[in-house]
Amino acid sequence: MSESFIRFVRELYGEPTASIPLHAPVMGAREKARVGEAIDSGFVSSVGAFVTEFERQVAAFLGSRYAVAAVNGTAALHAALVVAGVRAGDLVLTQSLTFVATCNAIHYCGAEPVFVDVDEETLGLSPEALVDWLAEHAERRDDGAYARDSGRRIRACVPMHTLGHPVRIEKIAAICNAWGIDLIEDAAEALGSVRNGRYCGTFGRLGVFSFNGNKIITTGGGGMIVTDDEDLARRAKHLTTTAKKPHPWAFEHDEVGFNYRLPNLNAAFGVAQMERLPELLADKREVAAAYARWCAAQGVAFVHEPAGARSNYWLNALRLVDEAERDAFLAATNAAGVMTRPLWTPMHRLPMYEKARRGPLPMTEHLAATVVNIPSSARVVGG
Ligand SMILES: *Cc1c(COP(=O)(O)O)cnc(C)c1O
Repeated sequence: MSESFIRFVRELYGEPTASIPLHAPVMGAREKARVGEAIDSGFVSSVGAFVTEFERQVAAFLGSRYAVAAVNGTAALHAALVVAGVRAGDLVLTQSLTFVATCNAIHYCGAEPVFVDVDEETLGLSPEALVDWLAEHAERRDDGAYARDSGRRIRACVPMHTLGHPVRIEKIAAICNAWGIDLIEDAAEALGSVRNGRYCGTFGRLGVFSFNGNKIITTGGGGMIVTDDEDLARRAKHLTTTAKKPHPWAFEHDEVGFNYRLPNLNAAFGVAQMERLPELLADKREVAAAYARWCAAQGVAFVHEPAGARSNYWLNALRLVDEAERDAFLAATNAAGVMTRPLWTPMHRLPMYEKARRGPLPMTEHLAATVVNIPSSARVVGG
């Protein structure tokens, strides 16, 4: 199976010998031109027209009212949690099957993650597991949800759209609403993914994206917070720009802010990338369809987009039978220069988070042991 896979990927990418990465950015003359414009403007750092333009583009694409750029996705998540009101001692519901940034951002607030299991179909937070954990451990008071044992506030819920596949966000939103819990989407991997006709990242009070080099579009490093709430957007901008009060010359700061600004250089790069996004999304669907056909012919399970959703297929994935088969596949493909990777080690098995509260996590364990990511770059030439 590995041999057939290696041949197939080399053909798919027209690459007979060189190594094939998991996800390479598409970039070229357009990015150079925009970055050149930023340099010529004299504004390369914390102020400049490209930051505003990039924010406008992302908001317009998503149909979101406001977008606030940040220096990376982790910083964007941290700032989003702070403006949502996550404070020291709070509990934040999330999934253990995620990239470590989700949990780290919660930890930066002095809050603690609570791990809930994921769905087999979406690979993301399971609404049923969420309901079960709340029924067993939480009580609803007038102003929100609290843990029954410790009396700690259950402030927010952060589902993650794993590999770009939308979670059942409408169910999660309804549960959060009933319990008085703020919904913040970690849509870092899901730019362009759609559920029920709406883009991922626009269902919660706030949504967060990443533009790291391996994401569907990149700014080198970068992130974005999106929201429809004017106050939250203003707070997010203020907090990510050192909480400086607007003034022609004085340096006055009215709280402890962060220097989480996206430099104008990176935003210029992002403006060029946003122009490519539709083309990238279209080709990634074709790559996914090709893998799906190969999998069907080989009798290998492919991770399809969930019913009722359109995935951006950021990273395509196979589900192998068990950990041994997965490890043999990883060894054979990587040795042949075809990059494949396991999913993340689940957060509850990392030393920093092993003591965190959690519900039963059988699907998290199963998927973490059997899913493999495969080369997924768009085959678009970076002109
Ligand atoms: C990429 C990613 C982030 C943010 O990463 P940065 O590298 O800080 O931009 C956050 N959450 C998830 C799930 C991610 O995949």
